[in-house]
Amino acid sequence: MEVMQNTLDLESLLILESDEGFLVGGSFGGETVEVKQSEAGLTCQCFIAKVSPDGECEHTRAVLEYLAHVPGEDDRPNLSQADADYYLSKLAELDAIQTGNEASMLHQKERIDLWFESESSKIQRRKDYYILALDNWMHLSEYSTKQLVNGTLKVRAQQPEIIVTDESAVVKDGRFTRVIPAKQSVDKASLRKHITTTGEEPEGVKVTMRPHKFSYTTNRKEEA
Ligand SMILES: [Zn+2]
Repeated sequence: MEVMQNTLDLESLLILESDEGFLVGGSFGGETVEVKQSEAGLTCQCFIAKVSPDGECEHTRAVLEYLAHVPGEDDRPNLSQADADYYLSKLAELDAIQTGNEASMLHQKERIDLWFESESSKIQRRKDYYILALDNWMHLSEYSTKQLVNGTLKVRAQQPEIIVTDESAVVKDGRFTRVIPAKQSVDKASLRKHITTTGEEPEGVKVTMRPHKFSYTTNRKEEA
């Protein structure tokens, strides 16, 4: 009886299909494994598949069995609500793993950033000594460009930086103003409304139909 149940699970619940391949549930509640499908055949990333001479494993065998038993897309049983709920719980599990990975990544990234910042500032301070000495040398020698064996030095005068701190005061002054002509622009909301109600594609507009968007939320509690 137990064996029958397992076979049924393989067909209806524990193998998911996409254009890329299959997601195969591990035996005895183990982790699911992706079996990729290509022209070369089925490839599994699991350890057994890597060490076995023909690349075969329980997952590729399960997919072959699944394909042998469920040939036509029309014949496939629809998901039950319980299956859908189970899949949603699997999404919640994967979300939790991803959140954990992200936290770990951010933690390590923080340490890397800190190391990089501290090393960079040390290097920058050393560079500043050389830069100051060379800048002074260029100035005292009255060079604007100097080619040396190890590179080229350049000194260039810069335009002053101008920031308007009080626009109304400058406008009131009157000497530095200009008139900006009124500009016609596209009203996207009315354009969308017109297209969705009439189906017309006005000149200068390209309408692309998009597939519906699937989303989910899970009841997973965020770990602090
Ligand atoms: Zn495998």
